Amino acid sequence: MTVQRRRAPRMLPAGLRALRAAALVVLCAPLAAACAAEPVTQEEADMAPERERMVERDIAARGVSDPRVLEAMRSVPRHRFVDPRQARGAYGDHPLPIGSGQTISQPYIVAHMTELARPGPGDRALEIGTGSGYQAAVLSPLVEHVYTIEIVPELAERAAAVLDELGYDNVTVRQGDGWAGWPEHAPFEVIVVTAAPDEVPPALVEQLAPGGRLVIPVGPVHAVQELRLIEKSESGALRDRRIAPVRFVPMTGGDGD
Ligand code: SAH
Repeated sequence: MTVQRRRAPRMLPAGLRALRAAALVVLCAPLAAACAAEPVTQEEADMAPERERMVERDIAARGVSDPRVLEAMRSVPRHRFVDPRQARGAYGDHPLPIGSGQTISQPYIVAHMTELARPGPGDRALEIGTGSGYQAAVLSPLVEHVYTIEIVPELAERAAAVLDELGYDNVTVRQGDGWAGWPEHAPFEVIVVTAAPDEVPPALVEQLAPGGRLVIPVGPVHAVQELRLIEKSESGALRDRRIAPVRFVPMTGGDGD
């Protein structure tokens, strides 16, 4: 975790840097709780305009309009979830490698899927495919708690460490196969799947709360898949909508992969 932290700003003398750091601490002190997930380093403050541009140009302009989702996309330091060598390009309109052959989705897709899931303040959310932890961080301020499962141990460990370091303390990461969901914490009002299975895992539909929303890419490995929104009514009836063609890494594990 050390590699990603606190690159000293190039232009300022040490005295001024210290002063600016102190000012940030003073500003945050009375608001300690509210500041927990706010940018507190100069590097993060420098990235805020990039995030703002990303939200305006690549997300809002394409039709994502939920103000809570846009605010979450503005607040989460995406560059902290990617390889430090990729930090400069973290706010570009494209997916990025996150190690172990996996990728973090393009910002628009993260925002679009989050909006489709209609996260509410009292909701429990389940994510399958923690990856870098970025999608979980975006969900974090929008729901009560995020449970997220990652099958690759190194990714699960790294995501848990970054989320912890950034103060996302309503996120629980588990290493394991998400095909079976997380029955101990079900039902979930929101389920977001960020790896594509061949078919919808039945356990995820079961673990969807009445009134809940499941957003999931479904389709064959290494081909274009379909993003689907499955909603469960209060009486338990399912409505399944095909939203858009997408391309995700395959879901491995329990479905026979
Ligand atoms: N949501 C992530 C990106 C996901 S990439 C982010 O914001 O960074 C898809 C992830 O799903 C990969 O990390 C992959 O290892 C994981 N994955 C694939 N099959 C899985 C399974 N059966 N259970 C849990 N995670 C799985």
